[in-house]
Amino acid sequence: MMMTANHNRARTLFFKPDERNIFFHLLTACNLRCRHCYINPEQHGSSMVSRATMEEWLRLFAAPEKESNIIFLGGEPSLHPDLVHGVRYARELGYCGVTIDTNGFLYHDLLTKLQPYEAVLSFSLDGPDPAVNDAIRGKGVFNVCTTNLQQAVAKGFEVSLIYTVSQLNIDHLPRMPALLEKIGCQRFFMQVIGIRGKSAQTMANSLQLTPEQWLKVVPAVAAEAAARGIQVIYPKVYLGADEPFQCAGRQAENYFIFPNGRVYLCPLCEDFPLNAWQIDSGRLVTNQAITEKQLFSLNISEGCVINKLLQPGNIVYDDQGFPLHRISCCLLKQEIAPV
Ligand code: SF4
Ligand code: SF4
Repeated sequence: MMMTANHNRARTLFFKPDERNIFFHLLTACNLRCRHCYINPEQHGSSMVSRATMEEWLRLFAAPEKESNIIFLGGEPSLHPDLVHGVRYARELGYCGVTIDTNGFLYHDLLTKLQPYEAVLSFSLDGPDPAVNDAIRGKGVFNVCTTNLQQAVAKGFEVSLIYTVSQLNIDHLPRMPALLEKIGCQRFFMQVIGIRGKSAQTMANSLQLTPEQWLKVVPAVAAEAAARGIQVIYPKVYLGADEPFQCAGRQAENYFIFPNGRVYLCPLCEDFPLNAWQIDSGRLVTNQAITEKQLFSLNISEGCVINKLLQPGNIVYDDQGFPLHRISCCLLKQEIAPV
């Protein structure tokens, strides 16, 4: 991503034309049942890619002449018995950055089998203590996740922590920087609760944040974490008046691949059969139905088209009916560098 300074240490990470990010969901199965889980087996199946398919799809998306990053996810990717093989194969194919997004359980003895230089480990944790985290992610999860994270740090792995901010845990977010410092994690991603999977269901809509909450709490926590020497990244969400709107679907190369072969350009579309492509017999085939690509081509004053369709509640209008803020692409990030 290209960086533009807004003030001192805050930068918007605009999309870089020659960077590619491949988000490879190896399976949809998971040992946990988080309350906001975004996985949608109805849309993406319940299968796991085989070792041969994993290799085939990694080859399909490899482009060593560009800066291609691969992110292995699930479900829980460490449940896949060939994850370590996939990491090594991706590196052989010339992928630059290799990341594993894990819930912290690190199955198949991952910390022993993997070398620290082979992959970055990104842990998901949704609270600064067991009471908050485990109410969302399940009993005992806080201890497993933080213990394994600290072991990973001790072994020399590069680690990061992702906190999905929702109504369930926003009040506890200010306690996270101290925890990160204590457990030795120097990268912090704050993710806004999505509108996918379980969190898109009517009963769960109460998880969504208001614009006021996000703007009041998140930048302040980011500054506090940066003051403790932690790099912080969070979605931009609200664009400043002088900031350009960019749709990653049009201006970047992000591919979200699912075990049933669907390939999306926009994560907000994942609950619908709007995928731009389908992998069929090892080839990338254009989806002939109406897809996300047609939606990206619409220009609206509110910014992101899919946001306007799926969660218009986060757009505030003035008396004349003009939006007070444009909503940025969900993939556009703000970074606060450590002090
Ligand atoms: S760890 Fe991830 S995939 Fe598993 S239940 Fe939680 S949100 Fe869903
Ligand atoms: S989130 Fe919005 S702006 Fe970003 S890729 Fe999707 S449609 Fe485009």
